Amino acid sequence: MTEENRRELTDAELGMGRSIPRRDFLNGAAMTIGSALLPGKLQAGKTGADEAQTHSGYNPPVSTGLRGSHPGSFEIAHSLRDGTFWKGAAAPEQLTEKYDLIIVGGGISGLAAAHFYRERAGKSAKILILENHDDFGGHAKRNEFHFGGKLQLLNGGTMLIDSPTAYSAEAAGLMQKLGIDPVALNKKCSDPGLYSSLGLGTGVFFDQETFGTDRLVAGLAAGEEENSGGAVASAKLEAFLTRTPLSEVVRRDILRIEQAQIDYLPGLTSAEKKDRLSRISYREFLLDIAKVDPALIAFYQTRTNGEWGVGIDAEPALDCWAIGLPGFQGLQLETGSAPHMSYSAAGYANGGSARFHFPDGNASIARLLVRLLIPSAVPGNSVEDVVTAPVHFERLDADVSPVRIRLNSTVVRVRNVGNGNVTPAVEVTYVSGKQLFSLRASACVLACWNMTIPYLCPDLPEKQKDALHYLVKVPLVYASVGLRNWTAFQKLGISNIHAPGAYWNSASLNWSVNIGDYHSPRSPEEAILLHMSRAPCKPGLPAREQHRAGRMELLVTPFELFERKIRDQLSRTLAAGGFDAARDIEAITVNRWPHGYGYEYNPLFDPEWPAGQAPHIVGRKRFGRIAIANSDSGATAYTDVAMDQAYRAIDELLSLNS
Ligand SMILES: Cc1cc2nc3c(=O)[nH]c(=O)nc-3n(C[C@H](O)[C@H](O)[C@H](O)COP(=O)(O)OP(=O)(O)OC[C@H]3O[C@@H](n4cnc5c(N)ncnc54)[C@H](O)[C@@H]3O)c2cc1C
Repeated sequence: MTEENRRELTDAELGMGRSIPRRDFLNGAAMTIGSALLPGKLQAGKTGADEAQTHSGYNPPVSTGLRGSHPGSFEIAHSLRDGTFWKGAAAPEQLTEKYDLIIVGGGISGLAAAHFYRERAGKSAKILILENHDDFGGHAKRNEFHFGGKLQLLNGGTMLIDSPTAYSAEAAGLMQKLGIDPVALNKKCSDPGLYSSLGLGTGVFFDQETFGTDRLVAGLAAGEEENSGGAVASAKLEAFLTRTPLSEVVRRDILRIEQAQIDYLPGLTSAEKKDRLSRISYREFLLDIAKVDPALIAFYQTRTNGEWGVGIDAEPALDCWAIGLPGFQGLQLETGSAPHMSYSAAGYANGGSARFHFPDGNASIARLLVRLLIPSAVPGNSVEDVVTAPVHFERLDADVSPVRIRLNSTVVRVRNVGNGNVTPAVEVTYVSGKQLFSLRASACVLACWNMTIPYLCPDLPEKQKDALHYLVKVPLVYASVGLRNWTAFQKLGISNIHAPGAYWNSASLNWSVNIGDYHSPRSPEEAILLHMSRAPCKPGLPAREQHRAGRMELLVTPFELFERKIRDQLSRTLAAGGFDAARDIEAITVNRWPHGYGYEYNPLFDPEWPAGQAPHIVGRKRFGRIAIANSDSGATAYTDVAMDQAYRAIDELLSLNS
């Protein structure tokens, strides 16, 4: 098939009918939920414990189809938001279980909160973690595949240890306790040179809808990571551009933006330039200051999608300079952060943290935390063996254990109770299976998404609820696609693909990491996982509006559409390498994150609040015996921040007793 006469591929040609496991039984449809209509798949036992997690073979990471915020995990929370949950709900059954601490949310922040509490209150402290998903870890989710008996892993969410700032003493201390030394692990286990040693590098897929023709152009740069963002190596660029479908004038402008040493803001000091760049988008910088041809924008539009979930229309030029986008090399900007930058950009401008990618991303950190809290649930004793260690889900909620993790349990109400002669406590109400349960603890940490807290705690002051509502999480989708082999990639000379105009923004062969008994594929004949990502943003709107619109898009997108878009895009990109979607795709897991990255203030759209008045600070204020953690409370989306916020929340609660 030539580029000029491309026709839509049929479902059969794409392999849509092929039997791969699909799991989309609820399809994200909005449900009207009263007590009689809670999702019936999961069962709660008489004690409120989730029975599903005790069944033999329960192992959510191997599920394919729709993961991330999977069907069954969010419908109750949505009915609470819509005001329909309590209509006709039966009275909760009071459980006699007693806890020192109940934690809402089993992500890194909730798990870290349990650890910090035990460190100070003692190992016998009784802690219950309630989590609405079928797995622990929150965004740090593991996708697990077995091809021909060989284990292959990918991150379903949190990709790697990597933060704009060095880990704090508390977060670094916890990492050390878990045995994680990112620098040493990276040196020992990462194999970043595998693909380039095979002659594979970065390619760009120009799609017909955006660029007038479908064309994959390889040879942009050697490298293995998606969204590397940086300026393109000069030697290869000219040759690359001549093969693209871009016009002569756009090619010339790209060369200028990538390579020319031009000061587009003459006469200003570095500080003045930085200030100016912090107040305009990168798109405006390119169009109005660097005066590029408007058709060039499509080439760079999605370069910031992976970092911030929106394109260059909604990201400050200065932030784009900090993550290495081109055009600034002649401006002589002094290194380091400046006022009026986002948290991420300012941090990366100052150097960032150490980096390491576990094969399942930071899900390994979640597993190590669970091992620390409930040793029998994750056997083993090293940071390397955790990658292949089985998780005994049935041991997570055992009554013999001081720490219990109850999955598939959505908390719907949290309130301070007790005064006068009654000891102050917190009453927590949650749904498991079709039933409502209530129980009490001395204190509670809400390590869940901050914007859900006003619905869980309607008694909060209005000002605090408004602040919590301000934080709009960033929607994202990560797909893990199992491929029979990667010979097409080898023939085409690519290991990762930017697709600036297409549905999926990028596609990358899995990171090559060898750790413990886990070994990444080395031969193109072997099966492999492909990581694809999409930020469902709506260019032109303010950032938070883009996030809201993208979230709605994700909630109504069925698995079949994600699947078709994967098959179609890979076919169009890789056909010249002999790729056949119907034959070569073995499995698909789509990790849908309508509530993804914690909201990070965007200097283009958010005001500069007076000290202490930023919404995340107002929103995270302790309320009686209820403290608030989660990376949202740090107004950004990083693993270390989730740990830091857990530490702060526990400190607030324990200082009540001192
Ligand atoms: C796609 C993606 C990629 C990322 N990549 C990186 C990366 O490479 N490096 C990095 O450092 N950070 C990354 N992050 C950010 C990082 O994952 C988060 O900052 C961190 O894991 C958040 O942990 P948390 O515990 O605060 O929140 P979460 O992981 O969101 O955990 C909170 C949990 O609470 C649950 N919950 C919510 N409401 C309720 C309720 N009512 N009842 C019970 N449970 C509830 C949620 O479902 C969730 O499981 C990424 C995030 C995403 C979405």
